[in-house]
Amino acid sequence: MWKRVRRGGRPHRGTVPPVDLCDLCAVTLPADHAVRCLVPDSSCASARGGRADGLRLLTACGEEHLEELREAYRRRPFVEEELWAAKVAQVLGPGPHALTVAELARRTGLHEPEIHRAVVWHNRRLREAREHPGP
Ligand SMILES: [Zn+2]
Repeated sequence: MWKRVRRGGRPHRGTVPPVDLCDLCAVTLPADHAVRCLVPDSSCASARGGRADGLRLLTACGEEHLEELREAYRRRPFVEEELWAAKVAQVLGPGPHALTVAELARRTGLHEPEIHRAVVWHNRRLREAREHPGP
């Protein structure tokens, strides 16, 4: 007997429906049952840049949890330097940093003064975290 093979070369085993997690309560739910919205968030830099920078996609199990999440982001200040720092961190990645400011500017699309302000913001935030560690 011939084994049936789907296109792509793998035997058919049934499809697993995509699942999502609620950003508030972490319950898993079928992706098509999740509710979503975009909110402004200066800590969120998109890999693609452009209009997606500074926007976070929230996912929730229902309207009530989505509204709680939305409210939390409404109260969170949008800090341009934080967004620029997120873009710089995305370009630098976890490895050793050997880029010049001019190269960083080219890769992030930021102006050099914005990169300097982002670095100052980032360093001040690190200092504050060291001086006032969280719980
Ligand atoms: Zn939830």
